[in-house]
Amino acid sequence: LPRIGIIGAGIAGLAAAIRLRLEGAHVEVFEAADTAGGKLGELVLGEYRFGIGPSLLTMPEYIDELFELAGEVPGDHFRYRRLDTVCRYAWEDGTRLDARANPKAFAEEVERVLGVPAQRVLKTLAHGEEKYHLTGRTFLEKSLHTPGTWLTPEVGHALTRLHRLDLTRTLHQVHERDLGEPHLVQLFDRFATYNGSNPYRAPGLLSMIAHFEHGAGAFVPEGGMPAIGRALYGLAERLGVAFHFETRVAEILTQKQGRRPRAVGLRLEDDRQMLFDRVVSNMDVFFTHERLLPDAPAPRRVLAREKSTSALIFYWGVNKSFPELDVHNIFFSEDYAAEFGALEAGTLCDDPTVYVSISSRYDDSAAPAGSENWFVMINAPFATPEQDWSALIERTRERVIQKLERMLGHEGEKAGLREAIVEECVFDPTTIEARTLSHLGALYGTSSNDRMAAFMRHPNDSRHVDGLYFCGGSVHPGGGLPLCLLSARIMTDVMTRREPLARHTPD
Ligand code: FAD
Repeated sequence: LPRIGIIGAGIAGLAAAIRLRLEGAHVEVFEAADTAGGKLGELVLGEYRFGIGPSLLTMPEYIDELFELAGEVPGDHFRYRRLDTVCRYAWEDGTRLDARANPKAFAEEVERVLGVPAQRVLKTLAHGEEKYHLTGRTFLEKSLHTPGTWLTPEVGHALTRLHRLDLTRTLHQVHERDLGEPHLVQLFDRFATYNGSNPYRAPGLLSMIAHFEHGAGAFVPEGGMPAIGRALYGLAERLGVAFHFETRVAEILTQKQGRRPRAVGLRLEDDRQMLFDRVVSNMDVFFTHERLLPDAPAPRRVLAREKSTSALIFYWGVNKSFPELDVHNIFFSEDYAAEFGALEAGTLCDDPTVYVSISSRYDDSAAPAGSENWFVMINAPFATPEQDWSALIERTRERVIQKLERMLGHEGEKAGLREAIVEECVFDPTTIEARTLSHLGALYGTSSNDRMAAFMRHPNDSRHVDGLYFCGGSVHPGGGLPLCLLSARIMTDVMTRREPLARHTPD
């Protein structure tokens, strides 16, 4: 069997391991951490459990697909349910809006609360869906670096509808044009943050993201988000993938074969060498080149692309219940443009938008009875040497608590939120970089802040080293769980077309 070594057991590394094993390869995964899942890891603080990273699950069908490929019934190993209310939004002026997943119910609620005709909201969502159908299959589900991708009727059709893609407008301009009402514009602008971008710079094409949440839906997995990593790890193990945990890869071994070097194995941190016919990196692509291939040529321009945003996260064990909260809650800043301006300047504004996600709302075991596990996240710039995170954390923590107490109506209470926080851990961009090994702590690889972003992501194979492939949030088609799962699918497709596994003969 052809032998494939995979660096990293993040969601894309797990999906790649499953797919390549099903293609008939011998697959070994090397993971620096002691468990699988990468950013889907778990944090335990006393009696409280938290998902370290992702809190919102969309497109779970890409997870199901892996079980189905393996001939298993997805529901036997991984269960999830659809949320009726995808997010509870709050503004400082007292406006409150429950965003229902169902587009019609959402539009009616918008009309009731904000006075914007429901028809206008439905039209905007439909336009997002149209953009997805025009471009999704090409830009998200296929390699952009294979000529065949471009010679399809879908691309031909998309070219006749270019004017519908809003490529020359920013996301914010599209929402101002189509929705107008400031609360609603801010709500829709927020979707830019789903891939770590800035709505005032990102292209209007990204308005398709709203369709994922309100058309395709938002879901919660049984057992919380870390259950996703556990389920895929279980599947990979059942298929016979070999895992090496607490095993950091130090170098991708290459050998000159013909015009270009070829990946022939991995050197581990303890200096052991493991020989493979092909290597897949699920590690951040920047660090793959910088640390594991220091002497090989690298795609400098691609690696220097602007990163996505990072985050400042407070994991709080809260020893009481706040019935006014839902699973996902947003407390908006008063000046969204200023908030993104601060991020561009590499810092945090005084009044950031606060996201509170409480998985104990759907997973009782994540917090003691009558208590809640709060994942409190603020968009933060990717890490730079000038930032003083301890000062920023101290200042922001205070402002966040004041904002939440004010907006929840608990201001001035003796036993408010502040007193209820009995466990705490804080991650800033530097912690995220160290803990998840993502360059500069970026949550989603490179940003989508310009029209060329999709074309400038690192491809799923190497142009410099034969036999080396990539999957994960830092390469095509980008970050976020659904896209990472697609990256593993695209990478497998690219690899098996280039070097069919069945016909592969090891040297
Ligand atoms: P990663 O999860 O980055 O895993 C890579 C693995 O490689 C790690 O386990 C690492 O230990 C390992 N590794 C690295 N270097 C080496 C080495 N040298 N040797 C061995 N192993 C190595 N997405 C959503 O869909 N919804 C959300 O709500 C969401 N929220 C997020 C919130 C936060 C705070 C973060 C951090 C991310 C969020 N994301 C969200 C993004 C999503 O988590 C990522 O896009 C996705 O999990 C990345 O998966 P990956 O396969 O690229 O690998």
